[in-house]
Amino acid sequence: MSTTYPAATPVATGPDTPRPYQNYVYAYPHKTAYRPLPEPGPRLAELWRGEPKDALSLYLHIPFCDVRCGFCNLFTRIGAPDELSTRYLDALERQAGAVREALAGDGPVRFATAAFGGGTPTFLTADELTRLCDIAERRMGADLRAVPLSVEASPSTATADRLAVLAERGATRLSLGVQSFVDAEARAAVRPQRRADVEAALARIRAAGIPVLNIDLIYGIDGQTEESWRLSLDAALRWRPEELYLYPLYVRPLTGLGRRAAVGERAWDEHRLGLYRAGRDHLLAHGYEQRSMRMFRRADAPAQGPDDYACQTDGMIGLGCGARSYTSALHYSFDYAVDAREVRSIIDTYTATEDFGRAVHGRYMTDGGDGDEARRRHLLQSLLQADGLERADYRGRFGGDPEDHFGAELAGFAARGWLDGGAPAGVLRLSPEGLAYSDALGPELFSPAVRAAMSAYEAR
Ligand code: SF4
Repeated sequence: MSTTYPAATPVATGPDTPRPYQNYVYAYPHKTAYRPLPEPGPRLAELWRGEPKDALSLYLHIPFCDVRCGFCNLFTRIGAPDELSTRYLDALERQAGAVREALAGDGPVRFATAAFGGGTPTFLTADELTRLCDIAERRMGADLRAVPLSVEASPSTATADRLAVLAERGATRLSLGVQSFVDAEARAAVRPQRRADVEAALARIRAAGIPVLNIDLIYGIDGQTEESWRLSLDAALRWRPEELYLYPLYVRPLTGLGRRAAVGERAWDEHRLGLYRAGRDHLLAHGYEQRSMRMFRRADAPAQGPDDYACQTDGMIGLGCGARSYTSALHYSFDYAVDAREVRSIIDTYTATEDFGRAVHGRYMTDGGDGDEARRRHLLQSLLQADGLERADYRGRFGGDPEDHFGAELAGFAARGWLDGGAPAGVLRLSPEGLAYSDALGPELFSPAVRAAMSAYEAR
């Protein structure tokens, strides 16, 4: 079956329109749907047997930051006292050895992309970053200079010596969390930094010659206006970043802002939607293409090199205590928390771990046995990209059209004007309004089981 949607899609807004900022779906299912696996947990060698391993993605997670931003619910802690970063890298090395051994045995193992995320990977010193690259290359066998390598940094840790190590080891993308170029807004988001320091960091990154610069900005900060938002956008544009991510501010439980702010009024939704549209239109007018609700890419930016990893289908190896790994059957990681004391305890458990040969915490994608979760993940991760979903790929994997499996959900999206009736034949994609409502649309595609697990999760 192939369905077409009206070319002129109506924009339905009213009391029944879902709230636009419900859940940032950057991976499905979210870690709050993971649970401890029955002990002793499956052996990694068994989990990876028979899985395609020739285009894996490698992710190394560093759970340290020099400050805790007020909006952040990522798995990270402030500082690494008493040689904690050394002990963490020791554990990472042990884990890498165990995982590499588990991957060996059937078929070639190759990494098609690599990323260092966090936390703040550049919290590590230059020497520690050298060790991190050695772990990725020598322990895991990733050829960092031959594949896209993305690294996250904060302005204060993007120092010349660290950037030199990363550039020399093959980093192709440096992502800088700026959030706002207005000092008062940075303070309001509990990320105190001075614009002068941010500009100096950007100059160092450009001087290091890493091909792709990404700048993260946030809209919806207390006191931010359309004018001050424009000021941040223009300040970022002066650096001609190859990529810009525009994030709506979320106020989440147990984060610095969540402890004190009142949340949830429609007026705040409207304010953020207005800033989103203003930001999107500004970037489109300045030569950027929209790749997803949050991501914009300079139209003339150089290609990023070989990129044959497809996040909808391929396997991921995550190393570090906040990283996830994906096989086709199981998504797994370590325990997850946001509260500072809980995070510290999980990191301490990780650094004391000797045997990394089993998965301990996760969620089976085969639950229910009918492939429903895999279909949802494919649909979600395709639809939330501006390019949308290739029907032929979906049919090839699942033997039908998305409408055969998600007819009611897609009809609902169409009724709200969220689907692009002008999409090329064979492509299912969101309208501009659908992209704006990505964080409402995504959660509607969660399975009932994942939804139940997420709401049963107790934030800690
Ligand atoms: S937003 Fe980034 S820099 Fe800030 S606390 Fe979270 S991980 Fe650390």
